[in-house]
Amino acid sequence: MKSWLEISSKSDFSIHNLPFGIFRHKKSIPHAGVAIGDYVIDLSVLFDQGSLKKEGIKKNVFEADALNDFISLGKDTGRKVRNRLIDLFGSDNSELRDNIDLKEKTLHKLKDVTMLLPVKPGNYTDFYSSLEHATNVGSMFRDPENPLLPNWKWLPVGYHGRASSIVVSGTPIQRPKGQIKLSENEPPVYAPTMALDFELEMAFITTNGKPLGQTILIEEAEEYIWGMVLFNDWSARDIQKWEYQPLGPFLGKSFASSVSPWVVFMDALEPFRVDGPGQNPPPLPYLRSAGMNNYDINLEVYLQPKGGKAVKICDTNFKYMYWNICQQLAHQSSNGCNIMAGDIYASGTISGPTSDSYGSMLELTWNGTMPFILPDGLERKFIDDGDTVIIKGYAGKNGIKISFGEVETTVLPAIL
Ligand code: MN
Repeated sequence: MKSWLEISSKSDFSIHNLPFGIFRHKKSIPHAGVAIGDYVIDLSVLFDQGSLKKEGIKKNVFEADALNDFISLGKDTGRKVRNRLIDLFGSDNSELRDNIDLKEKTLHKLKDVTMLLPVKPGNYTDFYSSLEHATNVGSMFRDPENPLLPNWKWLPVGYHGRASSIVVSGTPIQRPKGQIKLSENEPPVYAPTMALDFELEMAFITTNGKPLGQTILIEEAEEYIWGMVLFNDWSARDIQKWEYQPLGPFLGKSFASSVSPWVVFMDALEPFRVDGPGQNPPPLPYLRSAGMNNYDINLEVYLQPKGGKAVKICDTNFKYMYWNICQQLAHQSSNGCNIMAGDIYASGTISGPTSDSYGSMLELTWNGTMPFILPDGLERKFIDDGDTVIIKGYAGKNGIKISFGEVETTVLPAIL
């Protein structure tokens, strides 16, 4: 596939990708758009002008500050719009190429737009699906001989997170405060966290599911998984450690999570399907998935101290996940819980098998016992004020690159 639009081979956004997002061009109201090369395609303009007539969309769902209304039209409508853009921007289509006026209205330079949160998530779930991550954490805090709890290989463990504090890349976050136990024998204190951490994750975004009480079967799961983003599930380890028993993560997690602005539509990831790791014991029938449901997506984390250079601190891959996205959605829906358009389902921290592929500071510095030294001599156990954490993700094969861009967040001091 080639486009008449000039797109650098290094671009994150080739015609093979075409991710969806919400942007604001200069001072105008937010619109839905698609990234291509150095540009954003304004879907609202295309719709109003009649270029998206055959896609069965009745009203302009693109003049919106979230993709939810568009996503709620279903995956097939998403596919029709994306395929229409592949056609419209294809090298042998002159429709838009030769319409100077419309082209000017439809294409905005990426550098002239501000990206907003792509969806307004009604619900956010965070799973715990990386075997390497669960093993590392279990070894650190429980028993290195027996790191996994008895349920771990039977179900994709997860918790319900907080949707209201999900922010888009580029939004700084404040260091959270909370109850921290400084020593075993003293009462807790209320103070800014001393163990702020990132969690390298990916997340899928769903369409509307079935009515409350009905379940999405594993073989139906893909119909409801619309696209994917990069996700940083910020965590305060000291707050988490004191509060989490018996009901699980709460304020050590809910202060903020960061997402990348571009939602990569699932069709773009088709060439990158791979087999997941073997699952033993075999999952119960309702969690048994057929075919290749893992994805070969390279993931990197960079840490940039204030005024310093960004240093790569983690290199891993989404393909290592033990539980795949179909299993996660089937499990989420298995009790009849309803799934909504724009919901966010995060993978859990993605760690690989080697010590340079761990997806959190907790693991990279082994709970602060092995701090790492940045090139300018600074030491880090966890994330300091002024630090910027950048997660990047891309899949690449046979000259095709599907990039997720990045999610970048700077940590500001606690408000005291
Ligand atoms: Mn997490």
